[in-house]
Amino acid sequence: MRKRLNFVSLMILGVLAFTSCGAQASSSTDKSVTNSDSSVRDVFAMDTFMTLKAYGDNADSGLDEAVERIQQLESELSVTDENSEIKKINNASGQSVQVSNDVKILLEKAESKSEETNGALNICLYPILKEWGFTTGEYKIPEQNKLDSMLKNTDVSKIAISDNSVSIPFDYQIDFGALAKGYTSDEIMRILRENGVESAVVSLGGNVQTLGKKPDGSNWKVAITDPFSPDKDMCVIEVGEKAVITSGNYERFFTGDDGKNYWHIIDPKDGYPADNGLVSVTIIGDSGLDCDALSTALFVLGYPDAIDHWRKDSFFDMVLVTTNGEIFYTEGLEGSFTNTSSMSAEVLKIADKS
Ligand code: AMP
Ligand code: MG
Repeated sequence: MRKRLNFVSLMILGVLAFTSCGAQASSSTDKSVTNSDSSVRDVFAMDTFMTLKAYGDNADSGLDEAVERIQQLESELSVTDENSEIKKINNASGQSVQVSNDVKILLEKAESKSEETNGALNICLYPILKEWGFTTGEYKIPEQNKLDSMLKNTDVSKIAISDNSVSIPFDYQIDFGALAKGYTSDEIMRILRENGVESAVVSLGGNVQTLGKKPDGSNWKVAITDPFSPDKDMCVIEVGEKAVITSGNYERFFTGDDGKNYWHIIDPKDGYPADNGLVSVTIIGDSGLDCDALSTALFVLGYPDAIDHWRKDSFFDMVLVTTNGEIFYTEGLEGSFTNTSSMSAEVLKIADKS
């Protein structure tokens, strides 16, 4: 079976070039660079290359605190670290575990977004991700009957949360891969803001979040990867203070002996990689956590259900790419969206029927 690790790139044009990949060595590095305009930290955490860039007098103190916070979140949320809260929940054989507010916030968000998206977001799929080999790189195509029996242990409503005490049924395992990075970028921005930073941009494995505007007062330009040629971009959007978070089938996948590609976003309906008409979903909104949860969920919902969801709950903007190679972007991006690809790009209006 051939194995491939693919690369995601979202770039802040003219400011930063971000390249990241999903699964890499487990060591964490922190490189500090400071010049007269900006300070930068490169961090490897959560299996992700992260770049944090902040401007102004308080940039260094804010970034140092933000890096500490990333490391704290990693130690709480890692699904492999024996001492993490997630590992303790997964190993508890149905018993209750005391958790931090971070874990509680993520669990509550995972539950509510699962409900809102008809179960498309499901943090109980970890055993299925393991079965496919997405957690180890030892990829294989599981038998459908094995997946069917594993899917019986993925009922999100069985996660019990009371105050800061959490339990999941015996044989269940959870992971926050779909939303941890969005929460982390929210936390980085909170810390930078508290430190008096007014202008910053971070990329966590291609998930971009900005604080304020660029130091010259202009908007940030964020490029979105072409899912069919992941070393290229397909469009650029201009944003003020926003999270711009992408889920794509090119981010982590392998090619099976049958010549088909299998990727890391799983459809809770059958335990197979979600293949419902979309190859990339980018969500643009105020909360990194909401955008991250939605990017995964709408990827699973697919086309046109993702559009129906946006019409009901349009507090965010999005850019979709269909399996057929068409781009759709929501009307809030009109005027700030530039198509740099040869694909067609159509605007979605709230008022239109899909
Ligand atoms: P993202 O890149 O934010 O779309 O998150 C993908 C990650 O979320 C995967 O690597 C898995 O860890 C996890 N995951 C896969 N499928 C789902 C799903 N349907 N619901 C929730 N988490 C998922
Ligand atoms: Mg996500």
